[in-house]
Amino acid sequence: MRVEIAGAGIIGLSIAWRLAQAGYQVVVRDAGRVAGESSWAGAGMLTPAGEFHEDSRWTQVAVQSLAEYGEFVEELTLATGVPIDFRVCGTMELAFNDAEKEALDQPRPDGIYMEELTVSGARYFAPIPTSGVRAARWFPNEAVVDPRNVCEALVAACGKLGVEIRENDRVERCEGPTVIASGAWASQIEGLNGAPRAFPVKGHLLGYHCKKESLPPIVRHGHHYALQRENGFTIFGSDEQRDVWDKEVEPERVEALKAAALMLLPRLLNRDPDLVWAGLRPGSGIGEPVVEKVEGKDLWLAYGHFRNGILMANTTARMITESVVATLGKG
Ligand SMILES: Cc1cc2nc3c(=O)[nH]c(=O)nc-3n(C[C@H](O)[C@H](O)[C@H](O)COP(=O)(O)OP(=O)(O)OC[C@H]3O[C@@H](n4cnc5c(N)ncnc54)[C@H](O)[C@@H]3O)c2cc1C
Repeated sequence: MRVEIAGAGIIGLSIAWRLAQAGYQVVVRDAGRVAGESSWAGAGMLTPAGEFHEDSRWTQVAVQSLAEYGEFVEELTLATGVPIDFRVCGTMELAFNDAEKEALDQPRPDGIYMEELTVSGARYFAPIPTSGVRAARWFPNEAVVDPRNVCEALVAACGKLGVEIRENDRVERCEGPTVIASGAWASQIEGLNGAPRAFPVKGHLLGYHCKKESLPPIVRHGHHYALQRENGFTIFGSDEQRDVWDKEVEPERVEALKAAALMLLPRLLNRDPDLVWAGLRPGSGIGEPVVEKVEGKDLWLAYGHFRNGILMANTTARMITESVVATLGKG
């Protein structure tokens, strides 16, 4: 049985791989390049503690996604031989004043594991400022992944199972069993009346070539964070602009991020970044991912993962595949 997927970002590709494993004939159509949008831009933090502050269904999905990410990466690597930079490196979260310290110590949702860390202990692990840090906390389970590696491996894994991936092939309307995985653009497809609105949330990232292992953990302060790839490339982010469609780099936003980077990691990031880029996170009108079947139609929605689409790709693919199999039967 044939299933079409609109969108070849990390969400569409993960679903394509799982559906092909379940025996479906899968065609993925992308309006542009494979993994050329948010899934190319994303930093790759796998960090439920920084993103989810209250218990909810999606907090638990995030926790589960993190717990299962290592297996997902291992299965992809075994299937394809494509190396994936994935490390459970832990996150250090910093507070610079009493109010921030109090926020750090609020009860955390189930499944989020936090440890105390002294400020001097924190300085031992990461090049944080020598003064001004009020408190540090440690989230040992959190991880990083290079989303571009994951997408490359997914394309290879899909190829091995006969999935057809078509670039520059925009889906205008849904015909036959279809999964909508077109990120910020999902609402532009005809026939989705009543589905939550999709919209872009633009974000900039700064990239610095640094010495390998000069930043072992993720370091986080509110919505600012730094993480390092295996080769030393260090990423600092980010900002948010809702409903902005262009991906132009805006100099004043880069300056604001540079100042925040300098405050967080002065010994590592006290210089101009080597690379700067921006991408469009997929927001949703209901403030959470839209991962569901449309009643009465062979139509599934998988968009709106906002800041956590890299993290939730594995669980989203499972949810959609289970629903497709329950509806259409085995492929
Ligand atoms: C600056 C930044 C930092 C981020 N950091 C993280 C992070 O650290 N951790 C994390 O988990 N997430 C992060 N994210 C979010 C993450 O990147 C996204 O949630 C995720 O990539 C969404 O994947 P997607 O496949 O839904 O969307 P996309 O990757 O945007 O893919 C959607 C695809 O659909 C295609 N398309 C659009 N319209 C159509 C159509 N009509 N027909 C066919 N194809 C269509 C597009 O061309 C595109 O390729 C970040 C995002 C940004 C921008």
